[in-house]
Amino acid sequence: MKNAITPIPTDEPILRVHDLCKYYPIYSKGLVKRKSGEVRACHKVTFDLRPGETLGLVGESGSGKTTTGRAILRAITPTSGSVLFHHNGKTVDLARMPAGELKPLRQKMQMIFQDPFGSLNPRMTVQQIVAEPLRIHRLAKGSELDDRVVQMLERVGVRPEYRTRYPHAFSGGQRQRIGIARALVMQPSLIVCDEAVSALDVSVQAQVVNLLAELQQEFGLTYLFIAHDLSVVKHICDRVAVMYAGRIVELADTEQLFGDPKHPYTKALLSAVPQPDPDVPMNFELGGEVADLTRLPPGCAFAPRCGECMDVCREKTPQLLTHEGRHVACHLYEG
Ligand code: SF4
Repeated sequence: MKNAITPIPTDEPILRVHDLCKYYPIYSKGLVKRKSGEVRACHKVTFDLRPGETLGLVGESGSGKTTTGRAILRAITPTSGSVLFHHNGKTVDLARMPAGELKPLRQKMQMIFQDPFGSLNPRMTVQQIVAEPLRIHRLAKGSELDDRVVQMLERVGVRPEYRTRYPHAFSGGQRQRIGIARALVMQPSLIVCDEAVSALDVSVQAQVVNLLAELQQEFGLTYLFIAHDLSVVKHICDRVAVMYAGRIVELADTEQLFGDPKHPYTKALLSAVPQPDPDVPMNFELGGEVADLTRLPPGCAFAPRCGECMDVCREKTPQLLTHEGRHVACHLYEG
């Protein structure tokens, strides 16, 4: 071990996120509003994403995973850091790019949302929903537009003859398939799946996860898969980054992370995964409250909940360091 984070050998990354931060200011109440603090929703997040891989981003609610995904796609503007996106032989920094120059790149970066009920406009037909990005980016019109919509609906398992119907006429799983068709019709290379299957029934979840895996193979897609359900993450992801209080605390290959977790928070999260065998006792280790991002303690943010906390943990923030082929931010693995 133990030098500052060094990338594990890889193909040229499609995405290189470095020290990405998103802070929200807090203002005092009263007539004169003054900045009294900030919420560090995403702090110095660093990782690479290789072409064709699926990287899981996991953690409890409020750990900063959705903020990270949104800052990468510039749905929100990062406070600092860089997001290098490799596309068509060129590399651009999405974090610093003026908003007006982002439009052509949006074709190549799409998002699939959690809520298949809220993410589709109820006043638009399925045809209009899937065709909309093509029309906005002027990529197709007339019969070519119709053909592309039909092909994409067929590919995701929605019967094209239903495309004149409105979203309310479909089940949750079918709506999520329509959301996937809307994202894929642009032929993107990078997709951020933000809790894309969390709102679905377990049996439908499996179908949609399998569909995402098939589409990845077929279209060479790269996924950033944001989720809190570790069973799904284990099934679909090549590597997993665990976030706590806005930071990555462990990043490892999926097999390594699930087989031999290092960070006490990762261990605690894994202890909460339900076992298929009812005779295997649950050993739930994650107690205490999720860290309050407005009042983070000095040192390690996980210290108040950590059973292995040492004196140094309350004074010094652990850095994400390389340890046995993975990255982990914990004083237990320094020294
Ligand atoms: Fe626990 Fe200390 Fe590691 Fe934080 S740095 S997770 S408090 S052992």
